[in-house]
Amino acid sequence: MQFEEVAKAFNEIEKRSGRLEMTDLLARIFEKASPEEAERIAYIIQGELRPPYEGIDLGMGEKFVLEAIRKASGYGKSKVEQEFESEGDLGLVAEKLLGKKRQQSLFQTSLSVLSVYNSMFRISKAGGSGSQGMKINRLVEMYNNATPIEAKYITRFVLGQLRLGVGDPTILDALSVSHEGDKSWREPIERAYNLCSDIGHVARVFLEDPEKIRDFKIEVFKPIMPAMAERLANPKEIIAKLGKCAVEYKYDGFRIAVHKKGNRVEIYSRRLEKMTHMFPDVVAAVQNLRPREAIFEGEALAFNEEDKRFYSFQETMHRRRKYGLETAAKKYPLYVFAFDLHYLDGEDCTTCPYLERRKKLESFLSSKGTIKPSTMRIVETAKEIDSLFQAALSMKLEGIMAKDLKAPYTAGKRKFAWIKLKKSYGQEMDTIDAVIVGYYRGKGSRARFGFGGILVAVYNDETSRFETIAKVGSGFTEDEMGRFQKMLEEDKVKRPPTNLDYEMDPDFWVHPRHVVEVAYDNITRSPTHTCGREKGKGLALRFPRMIRIRDDKGPFNATTTKEVEEMHKFS
Ligand code: AMP
Repeated sequence: MQFEEVAKAFNEIEKRSGRLEMTDLLARIFEKASPEEAERIAYIIQGELRPPYEGIDLGMGEKFVLEAIRKASGYGKSKVEQEFESEGDLGLVAEKLLGKKRQQSLFQTSLSVLSVYNSMFRISKAGGSGSQGMKINRLVEMYNNATPIEAKYITRFVLGQLRLGVGDPTILDALSVSHEGDKSWREPIERAYNLCSDIGHVARVFLEDPEKIRDFKIEVFKPIMPAMAERLANPKEIIAKLGKCAVEYKYDGFRIAVHKKGNRVEIYSRRLEKMTHMFPDVVAAVQNLRPREAIFEGEALAFNEEDKRFYSFQETMHRRRKYGLETAAKKYPLYVFAFDLHYLDGEDCTTCPYLERRKKLESFLSSKGTIKPSTMRIVETAKEIDSLFQAALSMKLEGIMAKDLKAPYTAGKRKFAWIKLKKSYGQEMDTIDAVIVGYYRGKGSRARFGFGGILVAVYNDETSRFETIAKVGSGFTEDEMGRFQKMLEEDKVKRPPTNLDYEMDPDFWVHPRHVVEVAYDNITRSPTHTCGREKGKGLALRFPRMIRIRDDKGPFNATTTKEVEEMHKFS
């Protein structure tokens, strides 16, 4: 399959914002693709070359791409820079200048999906001295054979700026539509994706043989999409919803998925990044566990045995950075409070009810080790939930998680199988996790930091779009203002993200990447925000305050529009 066909579809997708149209355009591509091509196309749409947990980074900065465009187009450096200045998008610059190419290459061959993917993969693998030159040359080679439209998307891809606004759900729908003409295959495809977090693998398996997708099995070292919790306002509502249920402490640490096969152990974050190197102490403890093969999940955080104090996620990470892993591991030992089991010695446990998973989990953990089961009680009344909630708060924990005794593990889904009750609910402070989409230049006393606040958005998982919810100007220390400015400067983009609905323009747009926890007093309707917009008015946070950066969450794990709508109902 020619890459041009894919590039043309991307171009069409960019012009549309409707999910159905995007789905159809992608479905047509998958229809024509071989399984191998579909695998690569699925990764490319995600802006990746491999699943995120493999941590493959193309690593090409603007400077090098400018150089490649200069070389391939034959224009001078100043012309290329001038075009960049006026277009603000190197993809458009490549399209324009390579279209007018002065130096026609003698041996132009057309680009196939596989050849483009392979070249990009080689670029990502190049390391060591001279690698930048090698990367530029490979890109020039691609440019020499590219049509203008191909050049545009190759450029955006290598810069990490593809941003088609196509979310994973659209890719999953498109796979189903490509095979059956409708979404009837969506459920098993989505389940498979939630069990391996590898969209390319799922596309390939599905195109090879759709039946194989129904029988998809989890595998050690392929991280599972984390289940998410719904929230309710108080213990009474929880009992009304679940009846007899399990209540666990909710630890404010770092969510990890532990994969073990023999002596090999890997640890993945909630964002499915491989974090094994950060947790040598946990790895050692996992190696000593009895099962040969296991996948389980838990919350990692430091705990001080003397004063029985838990350290928050931020404090734990700060200490790990400050003292180095070895010292921190001794001084502030890390514990993993395991709360779920997905796989045990050949058995997929994700379909077992909660209580059965919990029993199996407890069968190989001791309450004294580094890895212990989370504190759990089975309760029948709101009063019991409340007393566990108070006990959790007195230990400086975040709150509790109530769990449906019969529910299977709801990979990648927010269901009432888990219900969270946090300390802020019903009290003076509630928080959401929002994505930064823009920032403001500081005025007055803040001018010296070049930073005056952020524009944040939540994620609408039904439309796969971001919707703004607040402009956050308070809660930043002076130190943080400087750090935010630096961090966001790097992510600055000239145009608003294509998958963002907004009314307000910040001074600078940024690529939606960083998630922050924002506190607020209540939620109101406002015409300046787009979250859950009805009759021209969106939901907005009143008195938003910055609490902390959530490094552990990616933009698609941010609070969803649906959750905000629910919270609005409570408030
Ligand atoms: P939130 O981030 O507020 O939506 O709450 C969900 C998070 O709570 C999960 O992603 C876990 O990281 C964390 N958590 C802490 N303790 C537990 C527990 N016992 N069971 C499940 N999740 C927990």
